[in-house]
Amino acid sequence: MRVLASVLRDYEDLGLEELELDDPGPGEVLVRILAAGVCHSDYHVVSGDLPLPTPMVLGHEGAGVVEAVGGGVSRVRPGDAVVLNWLPSCGHCRYCLDGRPELCRQPAVAAQHGTLPGGRTPFRRPSTGEPVYQFSLTGAFAERTVVPEAGVVPLPPGVPAHEAALLGCSVLTGTGAVWRTARVQPAESVAVLGTGGVGLNILQAARLVSAWPRIAVDANPRRLETAQGLGATHTVLAGQGGELDRILELTDGTGVDAAFEAIGRPETMALAFNATRPGGRAVLVGVAPPHVDLRVNAFAFPSQAKTLTGCWYGQSWPARDIPALARLHAAGVLTLESLASRRYRLDQLEEALQAMLKGTVTRALILPSG
Ligand SMILES: [Zn+2]
Ligand SMILES: [Zn+2]
Repeated sequence: MRVLASVLRDYEDLGLEELELDDPGPGEVLVRILAAGVCHSDYHVVSGDLPLPTPMVLGHEGAGVVEAVGGGVSRVRPGDAVVLNWLPSCGHCRYCLDGRPELCRQPAVAAQHGTLPGGRTPFRRPSTGEPVYQFSLTGAFAERTVVPEAGVVPLPPGVPAHEAALLGCSVLTGTGAVWRTARVQPAESVAVLGTGGVGLNILQAARLVSAWPRIAVDANPRRLETAQGLGATHTVLAGQGGELDRILELTDGTGVDAAFEAIGRPETMALAFNATRPGGRAVLVGVAPPHVDLRVNAFAFPSQAKTLTGCWYGQSWPARDIPALARLHAAGVLTLESLASRRYRLDQLEEALQAMLKGTVTRALILPSG
């Protein structure tokens, strides 16, 4: 089958191409993509900060409809509305059995190679037969893609694809960081450094468990305004110095119970750690390039017993948590509509990435099928 896809040909070189897409093999599912969010991780590949094989179809935060299934697939059928899960864990390794499927090695290794778990990629250039890799076992910036059965999560009815797509990365990651990794309790104080797609969901999740105050820190005043709409009780404009002092001031000089870094830069990661009170938790959610090291004060570990930890994919169980988040949205509890502020065609990915980098959109959505 021929499909249109936005292909990363080489670093910083994106273009629309018609590709050949294989039929789904055993245990695989063909999904027509209705909406796909543009995430910072996609940009990390475009810029080369996250070195992955090219040519590659990016996009990992998607929703759509199952069109065909391969042999042995039992959890979904053609016609089912689904969200893509970019971390389809194996289900039987020690991490999966420990209840930590986000640490499963199987999807991590496949993602490094840009392929499905068996080592093949379903996309090819029709003229040459050259394989075109897929980002994180998904490849959502295409009209259709083929993913493992565990790479789709069926949606309860009532959530349109352009909202459901966000559940597949930014919402799952942000809410999980607060509810599962930091386990924020009512009346605990939080600070969120970086209010992009994930940061906004950290604020929203903190609001839903009645954390207070909820301090948003960002260098972009427009993003801080959006943050206020989604749960920030206080905002701190970054980039002028004094961010740490301001957070301490808002927490009686102690620092917050839980600080979250959602940018992926060592300076803001260190700020998150320094803004955490003794005994509190600093959670690193932002993805830094693989070669970057972090410097924090060593004395603070024994003397202040702070926890510095990270969180991958919201420490979630996608098959359990994505439907639960969809139900919260349907009940009017969880906001999705104001998270995605602008829609783009498949051939406008470059423009959407620029808008994300400039912070002129909350989340840019690509609508691959029209
Ligand atoms: Zn993402
Ligand atoms: Zn596993």
